[in-house]
Amino acid sequence: MRRKRKVKIIATLGPASSDQQTIQKLFDAGADVFRINMSHASTDKLTELHRIIRKVEADSGRPIGILIDLQGPKLRVGAFESGSAKLEEGADFTFDRNEAPGTTARVNLPHPEIFQAVEPGHDLILDDGKLRMRVSEVDDETITAKVIVGGRLMDRKGVALPNSVLPFSAMTDKDRVHLEHAINLGVDWIALSFVQRGEDVAEARKLTRGRTAIMTKVEKPAAISHLDQILEQSDGLMVARGDLGVEMPLEQVPGLQKQMTRACRRAGKPVVIATQMLESMITAPVPTRAEVSDVATAVFDGADAIMLSAESAAGGFPEEAVATMDRIAIEVENDPLYTTIIHAEHLEPEATGADAISAAANTVADTLQLAAIVCYTGSGSTGLRAARERPRQPVIALTPVAATGRRLALVWGLHCVLTSDAEDLDEMVDKACRIAFQEGFAMPGQRIIISAGVPLGTPGATNMLRVAFVGANERTDT
Ligand code: PEP
Repeated sequence: MRRKRKVKIIATLGPASSDQQTIQKLFDAGADVFRINMSHASTDKLTELHRIIRKVEADSGRPIGILIDLQGPKLRVGAFESGSAKLEEGADFTFDRNEAPGTTARVNLPHPEIFQAVEPGHDLILDDGKLRMRVSEVDDETITAKVIVGGRLMDRKGVALPNSVLPFSAMTDKDRVHLEHAINLGVDWIALSFVQRGEDVAEARKLTRGRTAIMTKVEKPAAISHLDQILEQSDGLMVARGDLGVEMPLEQVPGLQKQMTRACRRAGKPVVIATQMLESMITAPVPTRAEVSDVATAVFDGADAIMLSAESAAGGFPEEAVATMDRIAIEVENDPLYTTIIHAEHLEPEATGADAISAAANTVADTLQLAAIVCYTGSGSTGLRAARERPRQPVIALTPVAATGRRLALVWGLHCVLTSDAEDLDEMVDKACRIAFQEGFAMPGQRIIISAGVPLGTPGATNMLRVAFVGANERTDT
């Protein structure tokens, strides 16, 4: 089974999509990767969803990626005497370390570290941007702020501090438990929330020790300031537009999305565009024109994956949302302007064998109008470099490592197939031709180009290109 598009689709699972039948339907409709948001799931739920996804994977015979999104240090205010308080614009309001229930004048802020990090002039944004305050005074016990945008503040609503660099790591104790559990299950990607610096990612990397790939969610102004360092430490980025749009002016989000997409494409690391892509499909079977345009923009920009959140997790039309994304992506990728737009920036290959070979494979495939590019990849790095070229031809990534196939499931254009390594060059060519035919990418008489590192299984040794004919006997030769 092959997809008819290069961009990948990530569907978040939740109450609307936790049973095997629905997950199967989401996969059939086009989901390549499933995301489980640990802000709303327990370790038991994670175990159960992991089991179901792997069952769907075994039934379909296609590698499916699993992305576990850790909650991170989400900051919240304490509780109020009557469940909420109405805060008037222009009034002073105090956050303190007193655990007594809050009033219209004050509330507990149960995060002592914040009191050291905040300075007069910094903003506090509450309840996903509904209320905003500006700090006027701070000491070790209290933060006094003027209400700029008032409203009703309810118990335990979130607090964001866009101007402050907080002395937190991106992982709480709960995240560490979730991370270990997820790694033991064998998940493919871990997403880190509220990362501020490269060190936050490096800390997670020490814990994961290569057992899972790390995707950094960029959602804080501090992360934007440290983007290069963060990208270097990460295996991929998620443009987490939900929180990013709370902490930064909304009108800056589209430009930041382009900046991050470009930086990831240059680095050859996957980039995911997330949040509110088809938001209206939570309650309606069709999206708005603006949402279709938003999805199309991400596809034209060459993002690796586009993501559904509540649309597939908690909405009334999860399957329709995936199918809608699939249709938009196919249409965009067939648009006559797509190739020019996606290659608007020319990416020079880096001075490595993998890049030189990938760039050459792309050129040869284009010049000779070949049916597909087939690359052998063990760790996944040759697959990533092949995808970095954004070739017009389909790219088949052959790997003997199940974890690599699953990890690459969210990478632009890669159709991953799990297969044992070939014994010699002849078998390598035969296998590539056979799989290209069986998977529906090449017909007998067409040619493909094969890239590999010889001897196979040597990491970083991509050194071979071979053009091969798909023979008539591929039909029966299994
Ligand atoms: C986001 O903020 O856009 C995001 C993807 O994170 P979460 O869904 O965890 O809020």
